[in-house]
Amino acid sequence: MSALADRLAAVQGSVADAARDAGRGLSEITTIVVTKFQPVSLIAELASLGVRDVGENRHQEAKVKAEALAYLGLRWHFVGQLQSKKARQVRAYASAIHSVDRMSLVDALRSDEASVDCFAQVDLTDDPGRGGVAPDGLEALVEHVLETPGLRLRGLMAVAPLGEPARPAFARVRLLSERIRAIAPDATDLSIGMSHDFREAILEGATHLRIGTAITGNRPDAG
Ligand SMILES: *Cc1c(COP(=O)(O)O)cnc(C)c1O
Repeated sequence: MSALADRLAAVQGSVADAARDAGRGLSEITTIVVTKFQPVSLIAELASLGVRDVGENRHQEAKVKAEALAYLGLRWHFVGQLQSKKARQVRAYASAIHSVDRMSLVDALRSDEASVDCFAQVDLTDDPGRGGVAPDGLEALVEHVLETPGLRLRGLMAVAPLGEPARPAFARVRLLSERIRAIAPDATDLSIGMSHDFREAILEGATHLRIGTAITGNRPDAG
């Protein structure tokens, strides 16, 4: 087996262990392999190993890769901060957009075409530069997504803050998720958990893990 296959199998094993510990079925958990900065050849190898869901965080890079690998029929998840002027273009290849975090972006994603899945990204830090809506603005954002054609709200997305334990942070997201179900009963998914905290995320109900380096190995120079 290649090193990539080894790492993928190891992560899949850990995901299965955590799901069992949480008393959850593996079928409720989608592992998205985040392939930003990685070459197209690595994504093709992942596909040959059975990976169907991949994540990217920059439009230009995602577009080139999605076009080059269109024949594989992968699901492309957009997980990075998204400029409104790029929103329409991302819709063209993305199965899901995990980083919907402001009203103007929702407006830019409005469409009469088939709906794209999306997640409202919540900011768990006090640092507005990191992306995500502050928790006190979440409900208004969710309402706006619900009234905008062309978007299907799947749930919430968050990144655990640096320098604090991930599990209580994810527990906050779970509480917010329960709260918004009063207005968005179908928005039950949770896109939480990365290479270093996916176990904690599974214990707090993650339905979508966004795992990069634990599977791909170190990223080539970000450039
Ligand atoms: C890069 C990235 C990930 C994956 O991070 P790893 O630590 O490599 O697993 C997940 N989510 C987002 C939003 C990212 O930008």
